[in-house]
Amino acid sequence: MPSRPGAVVPGVRAASAARDARLPDAVDRVTHTPLLTKDTHMTTAVPAQKTQTTASCTIRAEVFVPVDTSGGTVTARMVTFAGLHDGLEHIALVFGETLDPTPLVRVHSECLTGDVFGSGRCDCGPQLREAVDRMAECGGVLLYLRQEGRGIGLYNKLDAYVLQDRGLDTFAANRELNFGDDLRDYRVAAQMLGALGVHAIRLLSNNPDKAAQLTAAGVEVAETESTGLFLSGSNQRYLEAKAHAGHRIALPREGAA
Ligand SMILES: [Zn+2]
Repeated sequence: MPSRPGAVVPGVRAASAARDARLPDAVDRVTHTPLLTKDTHMTTAVPAQKTQTTASCTIRAEVFVPVDTSGGTVTARMVTFAGLHDGLEHIALVFGETLDPTPLVRVHSECLTGDVFGSGRCDCGPQLREAVDRMAECGGVLLYLRQEGRGIGLYNKLDAYVLQDRGLDTFAANRELNFGDDLRDYRVAAQMLGALGVHAIRLLSNNPDKAAQLTAAGVEVAETESTGLFLSGSNQRYLEAKAHAGHRIALPREGAA
């Protein structure tokens, strides 16, 4: 497994450590329970890959939030967790009062530029909205993982954009910055699903690596459903690179109507 981004990017590691250092007060205010041993995740000498798949996490707190969808506002249950193996603040949004035995699940990696600001350089924003709209209608679980830029962090992702503007594709740009093609780690997703009592899923994704990692972590991926194709002039090269890397993206052939 690739190492965590914090292990190779000093700036990101420092930021994560600062976030963890602030966490104890927040946890105390919300739950009044003893704190998880989160700091050990940042300082232990044990390699990350030896601390994972069998570990479980627990629900730390949950709160209902109104969520805007294209069909109106719905209420979702926002869940936080204790004991996630990477110590980051991943969240789940659960749609529907009761879940199917095999619910629709989207494992979405944070993309500040696309999710929040609507950047057209990728398709993350439309994929996120599609997932929310579908789950608002038929229920499901959205796992929002804090692994920006395929795990390299926001600043590095923006640096990669600079390289992309010089002609590299999204994966080559990451390699130029001495990162692997994709540092995302979905073991936390398996932990979160376990804490939610979800053991079999219908996965909403075009990325075969997600299904493979979740399966390896003990989640039964009963079915995989592709997301829509969100092609624009700005993200065509990005989507072509993802398709070349094995994502199930049916791009129209050049010259096709
Ligand atoms: Zn994005």
